[in-house]
Amino acid sequence: MFELIRADAQTRARLGRLTTPHGVIDTPVFMSVGTQASVKALDPRELREMGTQIILGNTYHLNIRPGMDIINQAGGLHPFMNWPGPILTDSGGFQVFSLATIRKIQAHGVEFRSHMDGSLLFLGPKEAMAIQRQLGSDIAMVFDDCPPHTSTPRELRAAVERTIRWAAECREQPRGEGQLVFGIVQGGSNEALRKECAAALVGLQFDGFAVGGVSVGEPEPEMFRAIEMTEPFLPADRPRYAMGLGTPAQLVELVARGIDMFDCVLPTRVARNGTAFTRRGSISVKGGAYKADFRFIEEGCDCFACKHFTRAYLRHLLNVGEILGLRMLSVHNTRMYLKVMEDIRSTIADGTFAEFHREFVERYVPTQKVLLARAAAGER
Ligand SMILES: [Zn+2]
Repeated sequence: MFELIRADAQTRARLGRLTTPHGVIDTPVFMSVGTQASVKALDPRELREMGTQIILGNTYHLNIRPGMDIINQAGGLHPFMNWPGPILTDSGGFQVFSLATIRKIQAHGVEFRSHMDGSLLFLGPKEAMAIQRQLGSDIAMVFDDCPPHTSTPRELRAAVERTIRWAAECREQPRGEGQLVFGIVQGGSNEALRKECAAALVGLQFDGFAVGGVSVGEPEPEMFRAIEMTEPFLPADRPRYAMGLGTPAQLVELVARGIDMFDCVLPTRVARNGTAFTRRGSISVKGGAYKADFRFIEEGCDCFACKHFTRAYLRHLLNVGEILGLRMLSVHNTRMYLKVMEDIRSTIADGTFAEFHREFVERYVPTQKVLLARAAAGER
């Protein structure tokens, strides 16, 4: 199922290959987020042409709209959205704990009110696995308790215990044909809890392991530490997935820390705000500085937008609210992420990843927020 092709000699980076019912995925891989059965503003043909290997769907959202009755009538998520490649579905745990109004956490799941219409719903290990089975995803995630970054040690412990118990319940549920199931390690910034959670989940023999409870509002140094304290306890012969991360530079940093799989809404989300990612950091194409800038978004980028449209034109589209502007920024940002992953894979393969890693991080100018967090961590 997962083949470890090469482990980098100087970092913890790994080159691998993951086989799923809808195709083989080369890792490290970036997975585009298609929460509502669509990668925002991009169609399956463009995604394919850009080199997208796998996309994400979401249990919580799809169960509310359009509902499983419609997905079942369509024959599953693949035919419904006409995406022939692999799909990973999130279990809905994160959304229940972050979006919904929780009414009661029970032994076998959570009673909550839909963030859409306030209707009373219940989601637990059994329900989340049944929905993911019907969606027909290639990789299903366990239903976990993802506590906020501000949790007390006591709340964190309760969340880890619940996550382990629910993971065991998920493991017992029937799964789709060939469907892989990944466990999710919680534990916040607590090293003992991370270790305990990882050990328990590894004992349950999942097909892969995710590090959850990252990208929940914590500063970057804390996020890196959470990954570093979890990774040593994950088996080398299974893929590792860091959930909900990150910027291009963070992806390179996390690959160097032994992570194989990523998903993030950033490429398409910031595109809709008029921001483009480049290898030197993000730029606000909407800004006045690009009014008469007739260069492409990024020199050397092979995306459709960078082959056809200038910054000045894209800025104009964004400023007058033309859909093409945000579509082209989504095209560029998504292709940019995928190309960074391609470069990561080729440099791991030829033994030059450590150099690529160093140069990439040196060149990349992080946002002010990230810089401030780094400075604060250095002072401690
Ligand atoms: Zn481009």
